[in-house]
Amino acid sequence: TPDLGRTAAKADPLAGVRHVIAVASGKGGVGKSTTAVNLALGLRALGLSVGILDADVHGPSLPTLLGLHGKPAARGRKLVPMQAYGLRAMSMGLMVDAETAMVWRGPMVMSAITQMMADVDWGALDVLVVDMPPGTGDAQLALAQGTPLSGAVIVSTPQDLSLIDARRGIAMFRKVDVPILGLVENMSHFICPDCGGDHAIFGHGGAQAEADRLSVPFLGAVPLAMDLRAASDAGRPVTASDPDGPLGRIYQTMARAVM
Ligand code: ADP
Repeated sequence: TPDLGRTAAKADPLAGVRHVIAVASGKGGVGKSTTAVNLALGLRALGLSVGILDADVHGPSLPTLLGLHGKPAARGRKLVPMQAYGLRAMSMGLMVDAETAMVWRGPMVMSAITQMMADVDWGALDVLVVDMPPGTGDAQLALAQGTPLSGAVIVSTPQDLSLIDARRGIAMFRKVDVPILGLVENMSHFICPDCGGDHAIFGHGGAQAEADRLSVPFLGAVPLAMDLRAASDAGRPVTASDPDGPLGRIYQTMARAVM
């Protein structure tokens, strides 16, 4: 367990970071972490120096997505981010075991994340992408308020229920004056590898319509794709292995739109 009682260093741990971008969703399982990682790699493909912080303490997926193993090294009193595909990466999943983090309540989540932010030597970065914990509860609000965010990207599926949650997420960031960089429609449609047909499993265009309604930019539609899922599970995200492929291009476009 991390020493939650220790006071964070006074010096601003993010002093060398030009932009901090939160990737958030109203609920879990919509592809927030997948988006965060591929967006970070899309930013990297644009030639920027990029870090990614997995603040999803209850379900840290960054170690799997980037194929990270072992514990981060320490330099003085700071942790050195791990390196993967040109990204600097840090995840709660590298520091505590899953069972410990699972039972943390709101305030503990918040102090653990603050601690993780303060204890990591990010160095100079153009962008730090923060994979937020899903939802719009107190921990998320405190995190949105307590982090110097340049903006937030909201991820949703086209389903009405996910969009209602996305709307709550947008309202939460607006409440604390964090600009909404845009809405991503994930699992947008399914292109059948057998018949070539384009199937809108959860309905289609819902996020675009919602983005228009809320006057936020629409950042793109990512299809429900078997190779995207397989690549993520294998720790080789598509935007790292094939940045100029059909999926990689979607994330590079997203990256250009948020900068
Ligand atoms: P969240 O962070 O919102 O909980 P994840 O990014 O972990 O969601 O995604 C949940 C699961 O769905 C993972 O297995 C992931 O590989 C898969 N997934 C996410 N987006 C897609 C997509 N566009 N196509 C196929 N599988 C996806």
